[in-house]
Amino acid sequence: MSCIITVPAFSDNYIWLICNKRRDDNKQFAAIVDPGDAAPVITALEKDNIQPIVILITHFHHDHVGGISALLERYPDLPVYGPASENIPHITHPLKGDEKLKFDAIDTSFQVMNVHGHTAGHIAYYAFDSLNNDRDNSTGRLFCGDTLFAGGCGRVFNGTMKDLHDSLHKISQLPEDTLIYCAHEYTLDNLGFAQWVEPDSGDIVARIDADRALIDNDQATVPSLLSLELATNPFMRTHLPHVATRVAEATGKSLNNSTEVFTAMREWKDSEYD
Ligand SMILES: [Zn+2]
Repeated sequence: MSCIITVPAFSDNYIWLICNKRRDDNKQFAAIVDPGDAAPVITALEKDNIQPIVILITHFHHDHVGGISALLERYPDLPVYGPASENIPHITHPLKGDEKLKFDAIDTSFQVMNVHGHTAGHIAYYAFDSLNNDRDNSTGRLFCGDTLFAGGCGRVFNGTMKDLHDSLHKISQLPEDTLIYCAHEYTLDNLGFAQWVEPDSGDIVARIDADRALIDNDQATVPSLLSLELATNPFMRTHLPHVATRVAEATGKSLNNSTEVFTAMREWKDSEYD
């Protein structure tokens, strides 16, 4: 399986480098996911003598695409993949959201997924080891931008609440051992809101303790396991009756399905927590 290098950027962004394992000839390559800033990416690549082979973009927001042009100055022939329906400069390979991609240099295949909602055209990249032909036996890694966050989810900008709800449901159907690589370190803040939704959850308390220990050691809380998101992330739990009851009480709304619970929860967090 490929290895992942975490590149912190700005105050709380993560840019991801997906690399091949080092080979006997010491050649290492990388896909760059959502380079909002070029400088820390170039530093990370040059430090380990890594050759970038592709840029993968999830959505048009500046903190995900702002480094593309400077990277292309440094590496002029780099292809850039991204959502066809969003206006992003320098895209060479527009994606509709159902493609399969394979990059032999990093031993990795990707299933592109439409995960609209945070933005209207947001896509994600589900990565798996292309050396292992049995995809089900290979731990998947989801590069999901600002759709699903550790302990939370993105805000709705120019997408819709229903789209974001449906995208999180789509992600929930991936194998439970999928590693979730989101693009921000928001985890502890998100888990504070998770406790508003489920004040009696021991799973959330345990996760906060574990993630606080990581932060105190200057380590990222990302990636997280999908199984942990399903157990502790309130936006992945809007189908549960006790969650629906709690959100209805807190917001004074009558909520009849998971989409309505999700919408009320997102609005509740936007207006009273953040
Ligand atoms: Zn965004």
